[in-house]
Amino acid sequence: MAGTVFVSGGSGYIAGFLIRQLVAEGWIVHTTIRNLAREGQVRESLGVDNSRVKFFAADLTSDAGWDEAMAGCSHVAHLASPLPTDAPSHEDELIVPARDGALRALRAARAAGIKRFVMTSSMAAVAYGHGGAKTRFTEADWTNIDSPDAYAYVKSKTIAERAARDWVAAEGGDMEFCTVNPVLVLGPLQSADFSTSLEAIKKMLEGSLPGLPRFGFGVVDVRDVADMHLRCLTAPDMAGERFLCSGPFLWMREIAEILRAGLGDQARKVPRRGLPDWLVRVSAWFDPVVRQVIGELGHERDADTGHALAKLGWKARPVEETVLDTARDMIRLGIVKV
Ligand code: NAP
Repeated sequence: MAGTVFVSGGSGYIAGFLIRQLVAEGWIVHTTIRNLAREGQVRESLGVDNSRVKFFAADLTSDAGWDEAMAGCSHVAHLASPLPTDAPSHEDELIVPARDGALRALRAARAAGIKRFVMTSSMAAVAYGHGGAKTRFTEADWTNIDSPDAYAYVKSKTIAERAARDWVAAEGGDMEFCTVNPVLVLGPLQSADFSTSLEAIKKMLEGSLPGLPRFGFGVVDVRDVADMHLRCLTAPDMAGERFLCSGPFLWMREIAEILRAGLGDQARKVPRRGLPDWLVRVSAWFDPVVRQVIGELGHERDADTGHALAKLGWKARPVEETVLDTARDMIRLGIVKV
């Protein structure tokens, strides 16, 4: 099955892999970027047949451009959402574009007669604010945004997914809506313009971390995330569905071991020693980026992906391949000097 599909945020890391997979499967893609001045650069990084992808300008914070971009499409993959490296000065800098942008995309989709709307949500909308004792999560879980654990990005993804589901229940009509909820996305890179999710690997490889804090993440490969989106666009009966998209949970210590085992001398700057929790907590007083994620310290958040396997036939590739492909591309593209 193929037709014309709308993908928001064509300059994004996951969107790039999704657009390449869609074009390979025969789809025509309409995609948005904030400013058409970047079209040439994004096309070059996509590296697909130019005639299969059409670019439109649209911003999550404005109504302009969405209707025009969705005209003629039957399916939507809504990926655009702010994912900054630094902590925002106010949480609304993330919450407002994430929530209002999703609602703009939904309204335009209904006006265009879209059949299926796939939204990229996150494990951030699932696994936060439950206390340290709960370590395994399913699609039934929702983040508690009133918890101190829920920082600005976590709130933005939770509020946006909830708002989208509420809107679909009230106004969505026949349009089928589902979400893909990935954990930390790693994997190969198409260009040196990389997503915030890859920062931890960069810091480990370049030796800019004094040691390994007890932070950990569920890790999933960008190729597998794109593949889950494709399955959600095409599989039957997707109305209301929600899919956790995850490989295994890895502590930073385990990621460091994979890097050392696979890269040899190129991993010589990867720290070996652990950082004690008290030191990480002290550094959070001075560093707003650490402060924002301090609630993650020592927390294990495992995703049960049984539903994705049963309903979509989806499963993640071996995580060693994902971690090492990330690192090799960072070295190849000169993002890190090892
Ligand atoms: P990314 O490379 O940073 O892509 C984010 C995209 O959103 C970019 O195309 C960006 O455009 C666009 N965007 C941000 N603010 C916008 C605005 N105001 N108006 C229009 N577009 C805007 O990150 P990604 O990893 O591909 O993320 C894609 C989706 O996956 C997001 O919804 C993210 O929350 C979700 N997700 C990511 C991860 C992860 O680990 N990477 C995990 C779970 C969920 P510009 O290029 O113009 O900035």
